[in-house]
Amino acid sequence: MSTTPSRRAVFPGSFDPITLGHVDIIQRALPMFDEVIIAIGVNAAKKHMWSLEERKTFLEKTFADITNIKIDTYEGLTADYCKKVGAQFILRGLRNPTDFTYEQTIAQANQKVNGVDSIFLLCSPEYSFVSSSIVRDIARNGGDYSNLVPDGVN
Ligand code: ADP
Repeated sequence: MSTTPSRRAVFPGSFDPITLGHVDIIQRALPMFDEVIIAIGVNAAKKHMWSLEERKTFLEKTFADITNIKIDTYEGLTADYCKKVGAQFILRGLRNPTDFTYEQTIAQANQKVNGVDSIFLLCSPEYSFVSSSIVRDIARNGGDYSNLVPDGVN
């Protein structure tokens, strides 16, 4: 007798830091999957404003009450990580055509090479200007970014 495999998605990113734009995508995607793994891609060559531990703590605090969200970190290719954790899907958010152009070839390569499909959700309009890099710019200059991030970051 065959059983239906769990529908598991990986939401990969740097989350430096997590923003309300990310939260919007994750919350809206939850009904589609049995489990969403928010996975911080570790790239030693990349400079970050918040440490890996801090970024992980922000995510854990933000989603503490949601049992079908897991937080993890990984190195290497996202598609390899998906295979390791048994995820059939990569979840990504799109803000604009630039995001789409960037994501298109990566998604097609992941599908062709690894058989991992990407699922895209358009961000809610009120978050289309929100990015981790905007938050970092505001933080670097001592501004108030509390309206752009979940409480766990504040
Ligand atoms: P990366 O380092 O891969 O750009 P990010 O942490 O910036 O990772 O983003 C992870 C995912 O969240 C990406 O799919 C990105 O397009 C999406 N995302 C970022 N900001 C927003 C937003 N404001 N609305 C919707 N999706 C977003």
